Amino acid sequence: MKIVDAQVVVTSPGRNFVTLKITTDEGVTGLGDATLNGRELAVVSYLRDHVAPLLIGTDPHRIEDTWQYLYRGAYWRRGPVTMAAIAAVDVALWDIKAKVAGLPLYQLLGGASRERVRAYGHAGGWDLPSLFDSIRARRAEGYQAIRVQTGVPGLEKVYGVHRDAALARENATRLDQRPSPVVEDWDTAGYLRHIPRVFEAVREEFGPELPLLHDAHHRLTPIQAARLGEELEPYDLFWLEDCTPAENQEGLRLVRRHTRTPLAIGEIFTTVFDYQTLVGEQLIDYVRSAVTHFGGVTPLRKLFDYAAQYQIKSAIHGPEDISPVGMAAAIHLDLAIHNFGIQEFSGHTALTDEVFRHAYTFTDGHLHPGEEPGIGVELDEDLAAAHPYRPAYLPVNRLLDGTVHDW
Ligand SMILES: [Mg+2]
Repeated sequence: MKIVDAQVVVTSPGRNFVTLKITTDEGVTGLGDATLNGRELAVVSYLRDHVAPLLIGTDPHRIEDTWQYLYRGAYWRRGPVTMAAIAAVDVALWDIKAKVAGLPLYQLLGGASRERVRAYGHAGGWDLPSLFDSIRARRAEGYQAIRVQTGVPGLEKVYGVHRDAALARENATRLDQRPSPVVEDWDTAGYLRHIPRVFEAVREEFGPELPLLHDAHHRLTPIQAARLGEELEPYDLFWLEDCTPAENQEGLRLVRRHTRTPLAIGEIFTTVFDYQTLVGEQLIDYVRSAVTHFGGVTPLRKLFDYAAQYQIKSAIHGPEDISPVGMAAAIHLDLAIHNFGIQEFSGHTALTDEVFRHAYTFTDGHLHPGEEPGIGVELDEDLAAAHPYRPAYLPVNRLLDGTVHDW
C-alpha cells in the first residue's frame, strides 16, 4: 500500500480547524488534526509545503518509521508548529491502519481498559450566582466533574469567564473569531485573595463529593502557586492546573513542598523532554498534553507509559479548538491506556459536528470512541469548504499597570 495524496483542509465552522487527509492507492483515507489555535496557517504551510511531498509513495503502515523520519529528518525539531504537523500525519496513519484492520483504533492500542472515559466540563461565572448557574447547567448536561473559573473583583476581563452568563456557552465557540487579540487584565493579589472564598462557597452549595478542578493558566510564580495550593486544600480539588509557566520545571519542587493539592500541567508542552523533571521527580499528578500538539498518538502513548511508572495519570487537553478528529484520537487512547485520569471535553458547535461526523459519544458525563473502524470521523469536505478560514487570535493578558503577563 502506498500514499498517493495528502491534502490540508482548513475550515471555520465557528472556529478554525486544520485537518490533514491522507489517501492511499487502495482508496483508504485517514484524517489527522493539525489545529494550532491562533497560528493555524503556519502549520498549514509546514504540512503543505514541507511534509506532504515527502509522504507520496511511502507505506502508510510504517507509522513509527514515518514519525522518526519527520521528527529527526527535519533537523529542526520540537515546537508546536512542527509537532502539530507530525501529529496530523501520525493520527491519519493510525486511522488508515485501523480501517484496514477493520477495527476501532483503541483495539490496535491494546483494547479497552475500561467501559468508558470520564470527562470534565467547564463552568464559569463572573459572580457566585452566575457561577452556580453554570455549574448546575453542566451537571444537567451530565458532567460529573467540573472545572470552576470565576471573575476577580477589580478586573474587567478574565480568560474563561463571561460577564453575561447567557452568552457564556455561545461565546466559548466564538473565541477565535477576532481580527486582533482581545486584551484581558490581571491582578494576582486580588485573585489569590478571592479564589479560596469561591471554592469555599462552591463546596457549601454543591457538597463535598463533586470533583472540582481549577485552571490558574500559567499566571503565578512558584511561591504564589504554593500558597494557592495550600489554601485550596480544605476544598479537596481534583487538581490545580497550570499553576505556573512550567518551562521552569524546577519551580514545581517549591510548589510541591508546600501543598498536597494535586497538580496538572502540560497542555502547551510538545515533547517528553518538557516533562523529564516533572515526571521523574514526581512533581505533578496529571500530564495534560494533547494528541494534536504532542506529535500524535505514537509519542503521547510513550509519555503516558513513562508517567505510569510514577503513578502519574493522563488528562488530555480537550478545549473547543481540538477538532473532533483530535478529540476522537484522544478518546481511543483514553480508553486503551491503563493510567487514564480524566478527559477534558467541551463539545463543539452543531455545525462543527456536521463538518466532522464522528462516532464518539458523550453520555452521563462519559465519552466512548464508538466501534467504527479507524478513529471514527468522516470529513464533509463540501461543508468544510463552505466555511473558509477567518483570521483569528487568542487574547493577551496585561497587569493593571499595562505590563504583559503570562496568559
Ligand atoms: Mg488549561
